[in-house]
Amino acid sequence: MIKSLSILGSTGSIGTQGISACLDLGIRVAALAAGRDIKKLEAQARQLSPELVSVYDEAAGKALKIALADTNTKVIYGPGSLTEAAVTESADCVLAAVSGSVGLEPSLAAISEKKRIALANKETLVCAGEIVMESARKNGAEIIPVDSEHSAIFQSLGCRLGSPEIEQILLTASGGPFRGMSFEETYKKTPAEALKHPSWSMGAKITIDSATMMNKGLEFIEAMHLFGVSPEQIEVLIHPGSVVHSAVRLCDGSVIAQMASPDMELPIRLALTYPDRKPFPAVTPLDLFSLPDLHFERPDSEATPCLGLAMDSAKKGGTAPCCMSAANEEAVHSFLRGEIPFGGIYETVAEVTEKHSFIKNPTLEELKETDKSAREDTLALIKKNR
Ligand code: MG
Repeated sequence: MIKSLSILGSTGSIGTQGISACLDLGIRVAALAAGRDIKKLEAQARQLSPELVSVYDEAAGKALKIALADTNTKVIYGPGSLTEAAVTESADCVLAAVSGSVGLEPSLAAISEKKRIALANKETLVCAGEIVMESARKNGAEIIPVDSEHSAIFQSLGCRLGSPEIEQILLTASGGPFRGMSFEETYKKTPAEALKHPSWSMGAKITIDSATMMNKGLEFIEAMHLFGVSPEQIEVLIHPGSVVHSAVRLCDGSVIAQMASPDMELPIRLALTYPDRKPFPAVTPLDLFSLPDLHFERPDSEATPCLGLAMDSAKKGGTAPCCMSAANEEAVHSFLRGEIPFGGIYETVAEVTEKHSFIKNPTLEELKETDKSAREDTLALIKKNR
């Protein structure tokens, strides 16, 4: 079990549940980092007395520095401050829970410092999976998945990140709020409708990604890197009950799954206490007698074309997933601002990825460049179509 944690994205859904886990498990919080919600950040800092607080937004950071002047907490701000929080010396683990590709650099920096990464930021592996996994191997840094599906796969493998015995990874998806509807039926859905997730309570970006199924596409790519499997070895299953959080099929035909009440604090706690497990008093025990029948369906690729887009980029590799994910991030934010319809997310990402100038074995610099140009192309396209 770890002793001290740096939380990147502390005011978000995973971040606040991470704090709750630390309080219950007696783990010290060494550093907090967030974007701009300084009211919440100030309350967290006063409660936890971390050494360091980082604020991405400069103006907000300056205001927080004044607000916390009577405490011993050091406040830093600006885009680079996120990486500084990630490498806080006294922290032996980083909970990487910021949303978007902004999470990549801090994770890489912490890996270089041999810290454990409790990984909730999908884009880290989607954008630069090869580079990140290679760096973790070289530095002997542990990457423990926090995403519920990847944690379930990890647990089904006996808390290992890979095994020659894996025949197939069975990646489950709830199907989101629009399950059963066609692409046309969902085309004009509003942000409010798309933000109503049937089983999980999460941040806005990931909830929209769940509605388009892009979230499952990103998880597909993440799983390839984490568990060292090929795209052909991953099957996506729609499982509306969200009871089985994912499973593995092993070479002898056994299928091993992990089941629990849908509570994100469970995978967060495991990533912090690994290789041990600790009691989780607040969890709702899974009552097998009251479960609905376990039901699985194949995804409808026509209704949720974002999943296919992500799977294609996974097969292509190189800069393709990075470009697709960056375009998706910008398209989702445009949708949330009311600039494009729900169906426009897919259309925009498809058009940007189609025009992308592909590099097969990119360097980190080339990936950063891809991320930047994909965002610019996405915003330009959305502006042109308005
Ligand atoms: Mg997930």
